Amino acid sequence: MDTQVLIVGGGPVGLTLAIDLGRRGVRCILIEKNDAPLGYPKMERCNPRTMEIFRRLGLADTVRAAGYPPDWPMDTYLLFDLMHPPLFKMAHPTVASAKAKRDATLDGSMPLEPYQIISQYTLEPLLKSVAEKIPNVAVKFSHEFESFVEGSDGVTLHARTTAGDRVSFRAQYLVGCDGGSSAVRKQLGFRMEGEPHILEMRQALFHCPELYAKVIAPRARHYHRIDEHWTLMIVQDSREHFTLHAVVEKDEDMVRLFEKIVGTPIQYRMLHCAKWVQRLLLAEHYAQGRAFIAGDAAHLVIPTGGLGMNTGIGDAIDISWKLAATLQHWGGPKLLRSYEAERRPIGAINVQASGRGTTGRSKWRSAYRPCIADDTPEGKAALANLLAIAADEAPKSFRVVGAELGYRYAGSPIICDEPGGPEPNIDAYEPTTWPGARLPHFWLEAGTLSVHDRIGDGYTLLRLGRTKADASDLKHAFDTVGAPLSLLDIDSEVVRRVYGFDYLLVRPDLHVTWRGNALPKDSEQLARVVTGW
Ligand SMILES: Cc1cc2nc3c(=O)[nH]c(=O)nc-3n(C[C@H](O)[C@H](O)[C@H](O)COP(=O)(O)OP(=O)(O)OC[C@H]3O[C@@H](n4cnc5c(N)ncnc54)[C@H](O)[C@@H]3O)c2cc1C
Repeated sequence: MDTQVLIVGGGPVGLTLAIDLGRRGVRCILIEKNDAPLGYPKMERCNPRTMEIFRRLGLADTVRAAGYPPDWPMDTYLLFDLMHPPLFKMAHPTVASAKAKRDATLDGSMPLEPYQIISQYTLEPLLKSVAEKIPNVAVKFSHEFESFVEGSDGVTLHARTTAGDRVSFRAQYLVGCDGGSSAVRKQLGFRMEGEPHILEMRQALFHCPELYAKVIAPRARHYHRIDEHWTLMIVQDSREHFTLHAVVEKDEDMVRLFEKIVGTPIQYRMLHCAKWVQRLLLAEHYAQGRAFIAGDAAHLVIPTGGLGMNTGIGDAIDISWKLAATLQHWGGPKLLRSYEAERRPIGAINVQASGRGTTGRSKWRSAYRPCIADDTPEGKAALANLLAIAADEAPKSFRVVGAELGYRYAGSPIICDEPGGPEPNIDAYEPTTWPGARLPHFWLEAGTLSVHDRIGDGYTLLRLGRTKADASDLKHAFDTVGAPLSLLDIDSEVVRRVYGFDYLLVRPDLHVTWRGNALPKDSEQLARVVTGW
């Protein structure tokens, strides 16, 4: 074997997988067909769960330092142009105020890390430079995946370099993180199910350093222009770069629309312009034999709600510890099989959530009338109608906290589920320790040390009750399997009340796998189920 895991694709999902596998001591090779990371804009919002994951990788502060400053407004406006007062505001907390709210909220409902704006073209080189520093990770750009062959003990991957050389690598496992047109997925023969072509848009990137010195609109994250083109301006992380999305015929139309939304003569340069298509698709499978797919290779959403890369980072972190456990011989055969069972239903929910957010946007967009900016009774009525619809519908695209924090691996073969669990709720997050759910965050030391920070790379038994039962049977059972188990005692009535049980067993990815008010009678059975035997 040349390595243990081959990763195809050096986008944010493949790079995050490489970093997590690397820090777990797994040897991996990542191949990427491009010669350098993405040079044009795509995603810009890491959601709170992704930031929690980056914190576990030791990267949250680095990502924040490269992105929006903590006090930059996150609000979203509807307007005609930036030289007139906005007509509708959707208020969102800044990172600084989200952190303050988190610290003042003691019911487990707040994420440990708030969201963060960072442009994908900033994030990818950052993740690449981190992955390249890990000794057991080899990052090979300019290598295009062509095909693979699976044998009884591993896979052989064939690739071609930019220089035209053909190379092969052998490994035990392969993960295709190669984006929406994934060649790995195609070779596996997995169909994409859903809506392949909803709307074709153009995206252009503008550099305009003097924008905020000239316009009167408040600083914000998004500006939706009220027009027939669905024009949306997104402020990128430098706050000197702006992307414009619109439904137009030609690249030149994007220039015209940029000038219209700015509303005053200004110096600028268009750096990039390309078409992109809104799709809502989910792969029929995520795994076969020794090959897996993750990220956009497995699901494609409309960016509304920011559930694209963020869902993919969730995939990466689920497959990562399971691959590590299997390669370290303590993970049983059901562990890797549980990847599809756990992540595909989450992909389906997130595709649905993103579709719902977009439907809300199309409702208020459809109320546009050509007379809408006119100072006439007809124009005023059209504007009032559009704004009334927007008041109901526009916030829906941001109401995804339940999808971000509340996702649960119901019915997973490696979760000791309980009957009657809560149904998925995209809109709202209720802290819960129902098996399969993410462990709610609580500070153990105010502002610095979270319960999350004390969950290591193996399993953790939390003892929360007044009496702490002897856990040596359970420890012995995990030792027999070879799986790492640590104990964490927490003496806080508040934490015990919200967590709801005296004992919680938490997996390396922070998901609760079992809970009870007494330690299990059959420790061996529990240890075997949760480790996939
Ligand atoms: C306009 C826009 C805005 C968005 N905003 C958000 C947002 O705010 N939040 C969010 O979460 N998501 C957002 N997204 C979605 C996000 O950009 C994607 O979900 C994300 O890029 C997926 O990451 P990935 O690593 O799975 O795939 P990709 O980023 O597509 O990376 C795949 C990589 O694989 C490489 N590759 C492909 N084929 C091969 C091959 N044969 N051999 C080797 N390498 C190969 C590609 O070159 C690429 O580098 C947005 C998308 C768009 C278009």
